[in-house]
Amino acid sequence: MSDHYETLGVSRDATPEEIKKAYRKMARQLHPDVNPGPEAEERFKAVSQAYDVLSDPGKRAVYDRGGDMGPGAAGFGQGFTFTDIMDAFFGQGGADRGPRSRQRRGQDALIRVQVELSEAVFGGEREIAVDTAVGCPTCHGEGAQPGTGTRRCDVCGGRGEVHTTQRSFLGPVMTTRPCATCQGYGTVIAHPCVQCSGEGRVRSRRTLNIRVPAGVDTGTRIQLAGEGEVGAGNGPAGDLYVEIVVAPHPTFVRRGDDLHATVGLPMTAAALGTTVTLDTMDGPQELDVEPGTQSGETTTLRGLGVSHLRGGGRGDLVVHIEVQTPKNLDETQRRLLAELAAVRGEERPEGRLASHGSGLFGRLKDALSGR
Ligand code: ZN
Repeated sequence: MSDHYETLGVSRDATPEEIKKAYRKMARQLHPDVNPGPEAEERFKAVSQAYDVLSDPGKRAVYDRGGDMGPGAAGFGQGFTFTDIMDAFFGQGGADRGPRSRQRRGQDALIRVQVELSEAVFGGEREIAVDTAVGCPTCHGEGAQPGTGTRRCDVCGGRGEVHTTQRSFLGPVMTTRPCATCQGYGTVIAHPCVQCSGEGRVRSRRTLNIRVPAGVDTGTRIQLAGEGEVGAGNGPAGDLYVEIVVAPHPTFVRRGDDLHATVGLPMTAAALGTTVTLDTMDGPQELDVEPGTQSGETTTLRGLGVSHLRGGGRGDLVVHIEVQTPKNLDETQRRLLAELAAVRGEERPEGRLASHGSGLFGRLKDALSGR
């Protein structure tokens, strides 16, 4: 029996990498597919057997100590599979070889749903129409007309890949590529399902009931696991994301979880003080207006805003007062106001400029800067 190191043409202290390299080079030249004939076949077996021993640290150690590693012990043909040889050729794992599955995981889907402000404040349930791929009801995802099924691809013999040998300046090189006839599936659909054209899935519109959590805002996404697109070949569905768009409200403006609204008050009511009833999201609420309330002042109604999405509780309702100066006075009204002005010594006001940070100007600045 020849020496395994000599067979591979490497020294006794060759590294595993050198052994692998030497084996690949020789196996390429001697592989029976490339180099038919009894002599090459014998040498190929010897080379393979040498590599089998020297590439395994345990076997190599036994062999180096003079152990019997002849054909009877662990020769070619015993536990040496086609895949092992392919691995040695191309350095790839054998696990991902073979026909690929027709099933794919489906993609996630995104839809936008507009909700009313009241739904954002209190939460709610609603029906949404979703348009996604679903498993084909005719072939149940098989892709074949009912009763026909698939048959083994006779080009690749069901392996899903084909091997070709090409001559190159390095010598013959074997390559593997997915079978073009079956696209690597290993099977062929002779009679594709007429409803899905063999895809195993079709587009369909369905209705879903979703819960809109209190506190959602424009941009909030609700994830519904497994409600997205069904994959090819009836593969597992992706997730459905429902993105919320909160519709504008005619009277309330949302800032964070607070709501803002403006209430107009006649000048007299603002001066004398009053109580007004506001139509809030929670129904009618009374608001006390202090005598002498200025235009632009705000009153906060605690807990009448939007629910916090996390942690419970609610934001506030901030009511902005807008004092309305009376217009189109009749003679009596004009006379009464003129009398009031005279009593208050306001017939010729000074036109004093307000300082920064005080009065209406300061509040305006605060409002503009968002404070
Ligand atoms: Zn079908």
